[in-house]
Amino acid sequence: MPHDLPKAYDPTAIEDRWAEYWVNEKLFAQPTPTFTDQDSHQDAKPFTILLPPPNVTGRLHMGHMLNQAEMDILTRWRRMSGRRALWLPGTDHAGIATQMMVERQLTEEGTSRQKLGREAFTERVWEWKRHYGGAILDQMKRLGASVDWQREYFTMDERLSVAVREAFVRLHEQGLIYRGAYIVNWCPRCQTAISDLEVVYDEHKGHLWEIRYPVLDAAGNDSGEFLTVATTRPETMLGDVAVAIHPKDERYLHLHGKKLRLPLMDREIPIILDEWVSREFGTGAVKVTPAHDPNDFALGERHHLPSINVMDDTAHINAEGGTYAGLDRYVARKKIVHDLEQQGLLGAVKDYTNNVGHCDRCKTVVEPRLSTQWFIKIQPLAEKAIAAVKPDADGKKIIKFTPEMYEKTYLNWMENIHDWCISRQLWWGHRIPAWHCSTCHKTTVARQDPTVCTHCGSVDITQETDVLDTWFSSGLLPVSVFGWPNITADNRADFDAFYPTSLLVTGFDILFFWVARMIMMGCWFAGEVPMPDGSARPLSESVPYREVYIHALVRDANREKMSKTKGNVIDPIEIVKQYGTDAVRFTLASMASPGTDIAFNVARTEGYRAFANKIWNAARFLFMNVDRAAEIGITVERSALGGMPQADADAPLEARWIVAELHSTAAKVNVALENYRYDDAANSIYQFFWGSFCDWYLEIVKLRLDFSETADKASTKAALTTLVSVFEAALRLLSPFMPFLTEELWHAIYDEKPPAKSIALTRYPSAAEAKVDEAALAAMELLKSLVVEVRALRKEIGVEEKATTPIELRIAAELGKVVQQNHALVERLARVSEIRSVGQISADVSKHNTPEFEVGVVYERTIDVRAERQRLTKEIAKHEQVISNADRQLNNPGFISKAPSHVIEGLKKQQESAKQLLDKAREDLNSLPE
Ligand SMILES: [Zn+2]
Ligand SMILES: [Zn+2]
Repeated sequence: MPHDLPKAYDPTAIEDRWAEYWVNEKLFAQPTPTFTDQDSHQDAKPFTILLPPPNVTGRLHMGHMLNQAEMDILTRWRRMSGRRALWLPGTDHAGIATQMMVERQLTEEGTSRQKLGREAFTERVWEWKRHYGGAILDQMKRLGASVDWQREYFTMDERLSVAVREAFVRLHEQGLIYRGAYIVNWCPRCQTAISDLEVVYDEHKGHLWEIRYPVLDAAGNDSGEFLTVATTRPETMLGDVAVAIHPKDERYLHLHGKKLRLPLMDREIPIILDEWVSREFGTGAVKVTPAHDPNDFALGERHHLPSINVMDDTAHINAEGGTYAGLDRYVARKKIVHDLEQQGLLGAVKDYTNNVGHCDRCKTVVEPRLSTQWFIKIQPLAEKAIAAVKPDADGKKIIKFTPEMYEKTYLNWMENIHDWCISRQLWWGHRIPAWHCSTCHKTTVARQDPTVCTHCGSVDITQETDVLDTWFSSGLLPVSVFGWPNITADNRADFDAFYPTSLLVTGFDILFFWVARMIMMGCWFAGEVPMPDGSARPLSESVPYREVYIHALVRDANREKMSKTKGNVIDPIEIVKQYGTDAVRFTLASMASPGTDIAFNVARTEGYRAFANKIWNAARFLFMNVDRAAEIGITVERSALGGMPQADADAPLEARWIVAELHSTAAKVNVALENYRYDDAANSIYQFFWGSFCDWYLEIVKLRLDFSETADKASTKAALTTLVSVFEAALRLLSPFMPFLTEELWHAIYDEKPPAKSIALTRYPSAAEAKVDEAALAAMELLKSLVVEVRALRKEIGVEEKATTPIELRIAAELGKVVQQNHALVERLARVSEIRSVGQISADVSKHNTPEFEVGVVYERTIDVRAERQRLTKEIAKHEQVISNADRQLNNPGFISKAPSHVIEGLKKQQESAKQLLDKAREDLNSLPE
């Protein structure tokens, strides 16, 4: 038997090899299952999980690592538990991020996307994608993610693009897509609208400028009175169309119905009354700029005011801004403030800190700005998406959130949702399939590119230049990856088998971006697909997934959020290089539970590498014994491996016990994983392997493995069989958490002739099979406790390492029997020569007390009285020295007045303990025989 494991565990040596093997052997490919009638019920549905597609520009960070470790653990566990399992990977084309990346390259080359033109630019992005796009998935491969690489997708793939186009056209046909002017968050750098969710707010120290607007008299001349407004963005005043006040504001009752002169622009604007205005804020008068503020936009709609957009796409003032046209927004701001001051119209200028929105991608300050965009009328989609999550009258839910609190967050958002702006002014993405007609000015939306306007037949049509929001396509993924919209009688096996998926594991940050959009679009479009029997699809079968698990954040060891500016970002790839993937996965798992952030501490990873090393060494011990046994003709039957090990009632206690521990651990781990308690699962396995198996069982079983001439071969074989079969089962239990180490050792156990291609394709020790022998557990607990106490006593009274001693044991008869039956075990583990059952421990014997027993170690030390007297005398002198030194310092006023209080306290404590030790030493000296 070779079993030639290298001496030291070296994760890098084994992980690359297995990662490559899993991919090459297509081990985790999940072909489309064909259902027979018997297994078409829910239990037989595959476990299906979509990888939240990373951006094609992405690099793996700790958040991905946690997300993927959690998904991989669950997928491996479900697969090993007998379910078909499909984990489906892919990447997102990530409109803004990817376009920015390539634009940056073009800038370095001294050119730009505008110079290239749309077609050449798009081709350039594809080229970039072909070269660099797969990096993050390559990292996943190296980390051993058990995904089906045969099904890998990219959101711009032809078949997924067909789905995107169909969804747009269908929504348009259903009257749910419209084009309109609306205030959007505009990024002047990216020159596109961005979603509310893509705006990050930072505190910004700015100013609040007060501007005095002259009130006009009946003849339209300045009346000499002013109405003062306050603003943080004075340049927007160029687009003001009114000033609003609260109708009941006593200060301004006399101004009702009057008009103002807009300074700098010399435009007459009305004073309007609206209850939305807060009388308490600022001066209680609000300038209204519908084209540059969402609240003002709403005000403008209510009062039928015009909207004057004063900025262009790059946030420069446009022709609507009069003499300020052409100036950058901040240059214009300075000039406007200056001009107002010159004209005596500038009021107070106050320091003001407010939250300013920045583009999440490029950090440019976002400009709320009116523009023409495409929208989805979201209400009917949102209604279904609410029904899919809201508990029904019986408290039943179709989609279950873990942690449960996210259900409320989701519902609250969905109940207050606004129409979704789906257009982006980018070149990279799915171009909106709409054609504008220059003849009749109507729009044609079509599945096939049209050559003429469907309204008037004109050939003078041009395609919309906007692309769709990236989340429009990723929101469709659960339906589109399984073949929608082409679900036909002979092309629906994937859809029927895998939809709805089982679970989504993702971070909170994309709850609204992605989770909510998938639910809306899944319920809407899958809802239109009939069930296999032709009946209408109920909502419960339309949802994209049945459960959502929102994972926590990985923070640094001090619980600080990782950030580039703080410089505390941990690169998972670096940590993996140092400690191995298995140790990093185990670190994350050991701290992952619903709703709890993870404080990632490298010291812990080091600890789990030591754990892996401990298991490695256990395997080496095991193989050494297997090989020695083979020399005398003892082998472990292969049939003993692969299942749930059992122990006969008459087997030795340690065999019954370790089997019971394994069963109990398996039961705990299965329950924990069922409830996303990765931490409980990982810690149970850890305790089993390190505590029960390595620290106790291996020590005991050593005593049974007798390979001598006179050995009882049957007993040795039984012990060896338990050892190997328990270890093999424990590897399977650990496998989802440490897939590489367990794969390596499992193949070694089978001597490279394993019953399956991978441990990942074997059966997980299940809770159902667990039959815990409680009596064995209790008996072993008693013996372990006895051994621990005896070892502690021996240490206390200074028994030499190799000496054996008798013990005195006071214990109830029933428990005493257990000890006597297993006396050999106690004797070997605690170096006991004899166990004396007593009614009372002898007076001169050192003893320990526990609730179950009292134990004493009988040990008479033969000592050299003269040497001991010398030692004690020296010790006494030392203590006296310490005490007198302390006395001298404490009585020195100079010292006392200068020394910090903790130094004085420390000195007093030192003196106190020296006094105690002195007393004890004197007592010992006095008790020495003459
Ligand atoms: Zn930007
Ligand atoms: Zn037309």
